[in-house]
Amino acid sequence: MSFETRGLVCAHHHLYSSLARGMPAPDVTPDSFLSILQNVWWKLDVALDLETLYWSAALGAAEALCNGTTAIIDHHESPMAIDGSLDVIADACSMIGVKANLSYGVTDRWDGATLRSKVSPLSPMTDGAARGLRENERFLRAGGRGMVGVHASFTCTDETIESAAALAETMNTGVHIHVAEGLDDKDAGARLQDLANDKWLLIHAVHLDRDLQGTIVHNPRSNMNNSVGYANPVRFTNDVALGTDGIGADMLEEARLAYVRLRESDVTQTPETVWQWLRNADKFFPEIEKDTVTWSYDQTDSPWHVAFTPGVRCVDVRVNGDLVVENGKPTRFDMNEIRTKAAEAAIKLHKKLALR
Ligand SMILES: [Zn+2]
Repeated sequence: MSFETRGLVCAHHHLYSSLARGMPAPDVTPDSFLSILQNVWWKLDVALDLETLYWSAALGAAEALCNGTTAIIDHHESPMAIDGSLDVIADACSMIGVKANLSYGVTDRWDGATLRSKVSPLSPMTDGAARGLRENERFLRAGGRGMVGVHASFTCTDETIESAAALAETMNTGVHIHVAEGLDDKDAGARLQDLANDKWLLIHAVHLDRDLQGTIVHNPRSNMNNSVGYANPVRFTNDVALGTDGIGADMLEEARLAYVRLRESDVTQTPETVWQWLRNADKFFPEIEKDTVTWSYDQTDSPWHVAFTPGVRCVDVRVNGDLVVENGKPTRFDMNEIRTKAAEAAIKLHKKLALR
């Protein structure tokens, strides 16, 4: 019986999306996963500049910390503001006091000024993808903690994916890539099977049709929201970790949802399976064992309790022994100031989106 757990890890986040809440609705109602990408996310990411990105990342990191999530693995894209973008996110996370593993998601979907929804594997690498690779390399060579990001196979040429895999090998890290999230990316397994290794992070794997090496990150809330289907991660032998895919970083909430979705698929499953997923990304942040979270409930060390106790709140957070959240309030930054600055940045961003 304990009020305390270790700090939690969000194994797949998009800190750039924190300001999406309240954004102007798309002109057409998206009716498929690809259409959601085209009409929402690929409009938001091109509208980002480095200043809006900073406040988006700061808000997302602050909300994570106040939910007991002391480490984030982030996957970033801002096609009109690539250079230096990972430093901006790193600075925001450092100001908030959250550990971060960062990557820039390279893609060939931008061909000059034109957005392509599907990219031929055999076409040459675009300039945008080359710039994305350079941003990953620059950040990693400067000592940044991260991986090499790839958006997804279906928006990348073979040359781009192979270059990302080679860069990751050189930098002794893995590739962080969306894999078979929707049916548009159902060929991902075939295209990645000779490249993936244990260091890779395979995000979603909903329609993955074969075994690939790496840690699979399950994002149940996002998958349901995008209506892409159930990943059923227990069908793989890989380590499975939990992410939010940008919908906040309340990992206990995500775990509860992952559990009921798993039970819907197989009533013999137990919460222990999902609470293991919750800890499987600790390997990316070995120092997380020094972070502690005190919760508003006295049996947070029991998956059977937490799975059936909605509304457990994060009370105190200690990072490496330092009290950074006390009674729900951050001690090192002013949450109201972060929210105010983020709201100003959101107005600027939403105005830009309304003009498109
Ligand atoms: Zn994602």
